[in-house]
Amino acid sequence: MKKKERKAYRTGIVWAIVGAAVVAVFWAVARTSPEPITPERIALRTPPPLYMYGFGSHQFHLERNTVSSGQTVGGVLHGLGVAYSEIDALMEKAEGIFRPYQWRQDETYITVRSKDSAQTLLYLIYEESPSRYVLFGCHDTLYVRGVDRPVSIVRRAVAGVIEGSLYGTLDELGISAGLAVRLSEVYAWTIDFFRIQPGDRFKVIFEEKYVDDTIPIGAGRLLGAVFEHQGKPIYALYFSDTLSGFTGYFDREGKGLKKMFLKSPIEFARISSRFTMRRFHPVQKRWKAHLGTDYAAPTGTPIVTTAHGVVEKAGYTSANGNYVKVRHNGTYTTQYLHMSRFARGIRTGARVSQSQVIGYVGSTGLATGPHVCYRFWVNGRQVNALGLKLPNSEPIPQGHKAAFLRETTPILKEMNALRYPSSKE
Ligand SMILES: [Zn+2]
Repeated sequence: MKKKERKAYRTGIVWAIVGAAVVAVFWAVARTSPEPITPERIALRTPPPLYMYGFGSHQFHLERNTVSSGQTVGGVLHGLGVAYSEIDALMEKAEGIFRPYQWRQDETYITVRSKDSAQTLLYLIYEESPSRYVLFGCHDTLYVRGVDRPVSIVRRAVAGVIEGSLYGTLDELGISAGLAVRLSEVYAWTIDFFRIQPGDRFKVIFEEKYVDDTIPIGAGRLLGAVFEHQGKPIYALYFSDTLSGFTGYFDREGKGLKKMFLKSPIEFARISSRFTMRRFHPVQKRWKAHLGTDYAAPTGTPIVTTAHGVVEKAGYTSANGNYVKVRHNGTYTTQYLHMSRFARGIRTGARVSQSQVIGYVGSTGLATGPHVCYRFWVNGRQVNALGLKLPNSEPIPQGHKAAFLRETTPILKEMNALRYPSSKE
């Protein structure tokens, strides 16, 4: 009995040792050997699918392309295997959504093709703008759809002190060039942005637009600004009355910002010939464009510059007679022709202010009678001065005053609470 007991005891110990060894080996193997590869783990190891306009790279063959020179949308579709009859049908469906001339060199399009060996074109996406695309359904059911991507608007407030240029200062603050353009438009004639000085400062409340909450697509509305030019603060507060369509920028009292341009270069003027691309020229006796507005007035009537600026040229040509060309800023230039003579001090390079007399009506050059031909350039292109949509300069009408104050007071408060960068205060 004792012997038997001892044997059982020994057997137990052996088994215990064997068991421990087995556990140890399993444990060691489990630690060193790679985990078994399951389908889930394989999926984790391949890169996550890339999505373009909602199409995933795991399901479709996606390709981003650039329109090359001379390439038409029809040409691209045909090259991808779409029959001409289907292209015609697509273009018909595209009416009012997409115009073939929009499809230009360097624009972007995306092809969505099947993953099989046929690589059939299923969709073509034309990126009209960062916030809108056109989807061409090219397979089975043909369709064309314009899709607006959700644009979110983020409100921002900045205060800055000009060091170099306005653009440079805004850039340092991480603000798009679009806002600089907005600002210079709003203040166009109140502040000469070509003469801003280091130390001038500004506060701006504005909106920034984002597509898909992440891609900035530029400045939205400028809600309010104060620009301190040579120590003098100039406010511009946005007000829009949707019912009456009354919209513009005003100072704190609701007065319009200073007028950009006078309506005409002479007082009590009579328009004798308007801007047209085609008119019968009274002197040359042939049809040609008239890229100006003629104001008839007696010889010697003072001619004033419609906005302040620099005389780019005070000279004479056989067609223009005595003429003055004034550059107002990087955008606007005006010209005054057929003068009998220049006003005192008017020469190339002279600085002139709005309403300053620059010359006198005459009929020098190609002119039948005394008049001033007034010409207007926007970004180097001649336009009809009478057709220009210039920023509002009228005050808020009495009936809108309460609404104006209600809407602008919070903006004003927000601006006043903003601090300028402290090192520069
Ligand atoms: Zn003319």
